[in-house]
Amino acid sequence: MSSDHQPHDSTPRPDGERPRTDGEAGEPREAGPPPAAGTTTGPADAGSDASPTKAGFVAIIGKPNVGKSTLLNTLLGVKVAPISSKPQTTRRGVRGIYSMDRRQLVFVDTPGMHRGASALDQVMAQEIRTSVIDVETVLWVVDLRRPPGDEDRDVARLLQGLDPATRVWLVGNKVDAAKYPDEALALYRDLAPNAERVLTLSALNDPEAVYALREDLLALLPESPWYFAGDAASDQTREQWAAEIVREAAMVHLRQELPYAVAVQVTSWREPRAGHDEPLFIAAELWVEKVGHRPIVLGKGGKMVREIGKTARKQLEIFLNARVYLELDVVVRRDWREDREALRELGFPI
Ligand code: GDP
Ligand code: MG
Repeated sequence: MSSDHQPHDSTPRPDGERPRTDGEAGEPREAGPPPAAGTTTGPADAGSDASPTKAGFVAIIGKPNVGKSTLLNTLLGVKVAPISSKPQTTRRGVRGIYSMDRRQLVFVDTPGMHRGASALDQVMAQEIRTSVIDVETVLWVVDLRRPPGDEDRDVARLLQGLDPATRVWLVGNKVDAAKYPDEALALYRDLAPNAERVLTLSALNDPEAVYALREDLLALLPESPWYFAGDAASDQTREQWAAEIVREAAMVHLRQELPYAVAVQVTSWREPRAGHDEPLFIAAELWVEKVGHRPIVLGKGGKMVREIGKTARKQLEIFLNARVYLELDVVVRRDWREDREALRELGFPI
């Protein structure tokens, strides 16, 4: 599939309307190339069992070097986030997915909260603030070898401002190497009065404790469609992957209307230019089979397609770790399901 395909060829639009969905909720975040589609992305597939799927987001926050990436890697059982003994290795939020038995945990790892005045520091601070929005649970990771410092207090302040519905768990890490873990933990606990749970573990040396934490997180997941494929291996292009996310969003919003007749093609993908504070631009077409379907997908005054766009953009931003401008067009591709050319454009191997 080509990413510079023109969006407007051979696409009849009976009423000439061109709905747009923009990135209204996005604050500037560090933008950059997306992760390779493959390890964590793809069409949702939570198996064929009839019981409802569950899914949710978990943010891992804390100052640099406390073991956030180590914890994430142990939670996932695979290495996804860079780990080092030097602070600030993790510049970009790294997301990981753990899918098991119709339940899916989506982890948001963040750069360490640290004080600094550079543009990057500010971008990272913003990213941390953004990362704790719209998650079910925040894991605040602290280093039990030391008492809290200024940067821990900064994190604590951030936690005070969270939506009260967000669960906060205080995770005292490096208990294996701490001389006074109980005393240190008590000091951290004082900083997090809204922490619903307080636990200690060693992300590096005690995987069993981390797995127990993972079980607890899984047990609390709300009913929700999966956000991403359970199948870790995928050879989708980034456009196919993004199209799938948009299609998923359309399915969610159109459930009662016409879920099957919509296909999505990403027609444009433009990375922000270096040095420019601009979002990643993604344009996609939602194909409907019949002229009469178009108004349904558009919704009243474009409301439906805007909702679809909002849901999809949120997912894209989380996974791409970038501000995204998503433009959606609803176009009539008459009987596209029977049209070999159309199916080829959608990436089917025919
Ligand atoms: P982050 O900056 O918070 O993501 O921290 P990292 O995960 O990169 O870890 C920073 C350092 O702490 C690395 O050298 C890790 O090996 C080490 N570390 C992480 N967890 C533990 C732990 O439970 N015990 C000990 N002793 N070291 C740990
Ligand atoms: Mg890290």
